[in-house]
Amino acid sequence: MRQAGDEVPRAVILFGPPGSGKGTQAHLLKEALRAPHISTGDMLRERIASGDALGVQVRELMQAGRLVPDEVVNQLVEDRIGSGDCAGGFILDGYPRTIQQAVELDGKLKRRGFAPVVIHLKVDYNKIIARIAGRRQCPVCGTLYSLSSNPPRRPDLCDEDGAVLAVRDDDREAVIRERLEAYDRQTRPLLEYFAATGNPFHELDGSEGSPQEILSRIAGALRLG
Ligand code: ADP
Repeated sequence: MRQAGDEVPRAVILFGPPGSGKGTQAHLLKEALRAPHISTGDMLRERIASGDALGVQVRELMQAGRLVPDEVVNQLVEDRIGSGDCAGGFILDGYPRTIQQAVELDGKLKRRGFAPVVIHLKVDYNKIIARIAGRRQCPVCGTLYSLSSNPPRRPDLCDEDGAVLAVRDDDREAVIRERLEAYDRQTRPLLEYFAATGNPFHELDGSEGSPQEILSRIAGALRLG
């Protein structure tokens, strides 16, 4: 994932509220860039599936629409970005989500020699609620579908592996509102933090257009050929 003439591997940070399309874009970008997609939400769901004590605590927070403690996600990311497949760069989806996570991430990226670039997907709140309510995910491969804009070919079944699609526990309306509140309180302030660091920052319209069109905007911002 390198820009022409640029030898520094990049950490692409997909930033935006829940339902802004970070997960969908990360899946598409992963193919376009051939770089790993690191989703703290997916890693936390794996942790829940493992059924250990931490998983139980994480599940309660997630189901309430609240954030998981910084130390937990910081450690997950630290372990992940140290693996060999991340050496050429990677895509972060859903991290950082607090100032403390962002400060920690900056340190990690500097130490390891990655250049951060932030992509902010801006989406209207009413749209977000409608989108999340129509969201379905394959429990096996993680592919995301939208009943309105990107439905599976066969109703309720994953195109990739035929598994029955699921609604995430935290995608119910009451929880969505909690998640948006957590975003406003804890995550939105990062925009000022990003501005203050002076690192590359691109704000894009994530409301209008198909996932492919939004991907093209991101590719343009990243100057991919
Ligand atoms: P979305 O971006 O649509 O909210 P995610 O899968 O990224 O979906 O996150 C789902 C939930 O996982 C969050 O509501 C939160 O409870 C937890 N989570 C994910 N990433 C983080 C993070 N970086 N810090 C704290 N909690 C997180």
